[in-house]
Amino acid sequence: MSAKDAARYYGLTFDRKGWAVCPFHQDKHPSMSFRGGRFRCWACNASGDSIDFTARLLGLDAMGAAERLNADFCLALPLHRKPTKAETQAARRRLEVARAHKEFEEWRKAFISKLCAAYRVAHIALRDMEDLDKLTEREDAAIRWQACFEYWADTLEHGTPEEQAQIYRERGAIAKWIEKVLSD
Ligand SMILES: [Zn+2]
Repeated sequence: MSAKDAARYYGLTFDRKGWAVCPFHQDKHPSMSFRGGRFRCWACNASGDSIDFTARLLGLDAMGAAERLNADFCLALPLHRKPTKAETQAARRRLEVARAHKEFEEWRKAFISKLCAAYRVAHIALRDMEDLDKLTEREDAAIRWQACFEYWADTLEHGTPEEQAQIYRERGAIAKWIEKVLSD
């Protein structure tokens, strides 16, 4: 899909030449042109492809914009004509981004549920504890790491993309702590 398709979809209109009033600066007359699947504003210099356009218009990052376009257009390529090489490449790129995002989402959900399981080990141990000395090694570890498990699960659930990425980078070390608590 071209930047013009995205622009049209998100409400821009075009003059006879196919130019649009730029949504990215205080534009009085159409300053934005579309060519080769891309857009360019000759007044404020904004330019890019459909993902750039959507990201900027909707205040999303590239991944969010790709996902949004994905949902809105179902990655539809033009049906009335043969897609250009650039369109095909762009669609493939969107697909790759969407796929990477889907993989991350699957990891995120699975990791959150493991963190919650580890958190619960501590919760139950503390609830049922009669004697500190009777804690098993993994209960003891769970209790020491409970606040961390909670923090990681909470951040993966509600944190910023940057905070989530940080945990993703440290997932190997974190997984070892989870294993220690969840394995018998
Ligand atoms: Zn502009």
